Amino acid sequence: MDTRHLDWPFLEDKHRELAISLQEWSERHLCGAHGADDGENIDQQCRELVHDLGQDGWLRYAVGGMSYGGASDSIDTRSVCLIREILARHSGLADLAFAMQGLGSGAITLFGNSDQKQRFLPRVVAGSAIAAFALSEPEAGSDVAAMQCEARLDGGTYVLNGEKTWISNGGIADFYVLFARTGEAPGSRGITAFIIEPDTPGFEVAGRIKTIAAHPLARLTFKDCRIPVANRLGDPGKGFKVAMATLDIFRTSVAAAAVGFSRRALEEALRRATSRKMFGGTLADLQLTQAKLAGMATGIDAAALLTYRAAWLRDLGRRITVEAAMAKMTATETAQQVIDSAVQILGGLGVVSHEVVETLYREIRPLRIYEGATEVQQLIIARGVIQAFLEKGNSA
Ligand SMILES: Cc1cc2nc3c(=O)[nH]c(=O)nc-3n(C[C@H](O)[C@H](O)[C@H](O)COP(=O)(O)OP(=O)(O)OC[C@H]3O[C@@H](n4cnc5c(N)ncnc54)[C@H](O)[C@@H]3O)c2cc1C
Repeated sequence: MDTRHLDWPFLEDKHRELAISLQEWSERHLCGAHGADDGENIDQQCRELVHDLGQDGWLRYAVGGMSYGGASDSIDTRSVCLIREILARHSGLADLAFAMQGLGSGAITLFGNSDQKQRFLPRVVAGSAIAAFALSEPEAGSDVAAMQCEARLDGGTYVLNGEKTWISNGGIADFYVLFARTGEAPGSRGITAFIIEPDTPGFEVAGRIKTIAAHPLARLTFKDCRIPVANRLGDPGKGFKVAMATLDIFRTSVAAAAVGFSRRALEEALRRATSRKMFGGTLADLQLTQAKLAGMATGIDAAALLTYRAAWLRDLGRRITVEAAMAKMTATETAQQVIDSAVQILGGLGVVSHEVVETLYREIRPLRIYEGATEVQQLIIARGVIQAFLEKGNSA
């Protein structure tokens, strides 16, 4: 593994130690293999990965709160990013298993009361409860505020009706942090966050969704599901804020996963280019190959710098909506190009099913869409710079 970036000033010694020990763990446990097999046994593979990550202590970094088993009192974004980068280098499914434990429980860490934290976080850390995050709906993906899922207060319970889709860990999760319209105000101000467990009457996994890179994904429906008020997360009508604060952390970590995929692609490309004999030398001797390798390496460093800058700023306590968007957009778009270059360098081998770069080529694609498509990140960045310009005054 190229460890030069571990010396960057964004990271501390504890991060360097974490990265080195997770790298060793990944080499032993994930055996260098990338991607899940064709979706067969995907649920079981995911459960086993969550169990193993929990058993060996890595899920401590997915939650905040040492009294609930967390590695520190608040989520350390740089640790989350390093873990995702390293797991993604080895296995897309291992990265997803870790990421969803964090994304699915992140709102509980950030906004849960002590009872909610005690009920869920220790099990997330142990890997004995699988978490999921249910925000998207058929008519509300990029436009979250168009959400239609509705929770109506009726005595001591909320009555939930509606549908969620594209839910990672859907069908295998032990609990879902779910967002529904509660009507305090129109648009994004009338949404509330809840915790729902799948044994709630009226909860149904209405269908599983197969995608370009296998992972557990489902459409969920809710018919008169009764959610106790004790399972409401945060204040009524503040769910949009809950979702966005959770995404600030995990969007940055999507960027880190993209960096991990890119690093693996560059390694595969270098291995092949330096060993493939052609035109009296190796593929790596050819200047057109060197131009590709230079672009790949530079793009990866640029993406990683934006990623760890965002993570570092968040760990300093700053709001990082714009920085997280810059990191996610740059790292995922760069990764797609880096992986495509790796496929090109490997030639025919690059498109053989289940070869590492072919798997990476499929695995990277959804990262440019989920947790806010690239166009959504562009809007966030543009709004941020325009607002900063207007606040500063537009004098030269
Ligand atoms: C593999 C996978 C896993 C997922 N996991 C989860 C999960 O665990 N929980 C969850 O809640 N959701 C999840 N999602 C849903 C994901 O967040 C949504 O797919 C995403 O937000 C986009 O929504 P959409 O698919 O409805 O596309 P749409 O909202 O219909 O957008 C389609 C396209 O329009 C473009 N676009 C969007 N906004 C603009 C704009 N302002 N201007 C111009 N173009 C624009 C983008 O290119 C976008 O891809 C997952 C999705 C995938 C593919």
